[in-house]
Amino acid sequence: MISFYPGPSRTYDDIPKYVKEAHREGVLSMNHRSDEFVALSKMTIKLLKEKLNIPRNYTIFFTSSATECWELIAQSLITKKSAHLYNGAFGEKWFEYTQRLVPGAKAFPFDKEGEPDTKKLQLKTADVICITQNETSNGTQLNERFISLLQKMNSHALLAVDVTSSMGGVALNFKSADVWFASVQKCFGLPAGLALMVCSPKAIEKIKSIGEKKHYNSLLFMNEMMDQWQTSYTPNVMAIYLLMRAMQKVDPIHLIHKKLTARYQAWESFFRHSEKLTLLIENKKVRSTTVLTITGAPEYLDQVKTAARKAGFVLGEGYGALKKETFRIANFPAIKKKEIAKLMKFMAHFL
Ligand SMILES: *Cc1c(COP(=O)(O)O)cnc(C)c1O
Repeated sequence: MISFYPGPSRTYDDIPKYVKEAHREGVLSMNHRSDEFVALSKMTIKLLKEKLNIPRNYTIFFTSSATECWELIAQSLITKKSAHLYNGAFGEKWFEYTQRLVPGAKAFPFDKEGEPDTKKLQLKTADVICITQNETSNGTQLNERFISLLQKMNSHALLAVDVTSSMGGVALNFKSADVWFASVQKCFGLPAGLALMVCSPKAIEKIKSIGEKKHYNSLLFMNEMMDQWQTSYTPNVMAIYLLMRAMQKVDPIHLIHKKLTARYQAWESFFRHSEKLTLLIENKKVRSTTVLTITGAPEYLDQVKTAARKAGFVLGEGYGALKKETFRIANFPAIKKKEIAKLMKFMAHFL
């Protein structure tokens, strides 16, 4: 089976080899307070900064999931009000989870065929602005220019960006926001159970000035631990090791970005003349390059998905409200060129 599911997604072929080596090298029972762990943590963070082009003065935390990152932000970074700009299920979920902890959280939904209108948004009272750069549920993306503009217009606030299905696949300008997070089971091509949270110096200052320390994963405490390259609890050491090994091998992000953009364009022209299967998002400017969302008649989509499974492909189900009317195709780095060619050959019969 070849998985085109946009998370958990296809993992790198080398993973079983890395797991064996982890076992041989004693990583599976490595003490998380040991010098060996400190060296592993340090090396992983160094590689992430190099390969993903993350500024050296940013701090990277290991967390367990993107969902945990939503909660970390709500606990430790939002004092009174957060503003949530979203157009799909993941951004909405982030808002809902935050609202339970922060009653002042405010929703700013926008149409999936466009960008939020920065001039009309009332964000003056928000202390954290939350956006989903790549909305995995509907296959939309907010571009570099928009994020920079949002940051420029709102220097009073911190900008937090969910990049769960794009970090590792899209060249992000980390300077244009304060908090970025992603779990590793999407663009990183790794098994689930680990996530990363990248914080700017401005975010770290805010964490310190708020001083929230009521939880095992309060960012203040996590930051103190990360000063020693450690975590506040026993982390998923094997997942960190796998991330380190994967990062050693991957190309620098600008090359991955280029590769995925070309593949995205190939998919785009593939569906261009189809009558039965079309891209859900019509506006090219906001289409995601890492998650393609295909729409068609629900019964027909069911037929395609069933036939695909028989032929050895796993397509992504539609998500949330779009469950019946769409399916999704991941365009993640671990997927091979020849696998895409195979899927295209199969899917050509259904256009
Ligand atoms: C998958 C996903 C999440 C949730 O990730 P978990 O690791 O399951 O917590 C959050 N946001 C986006 C945009 C996602 O694609």
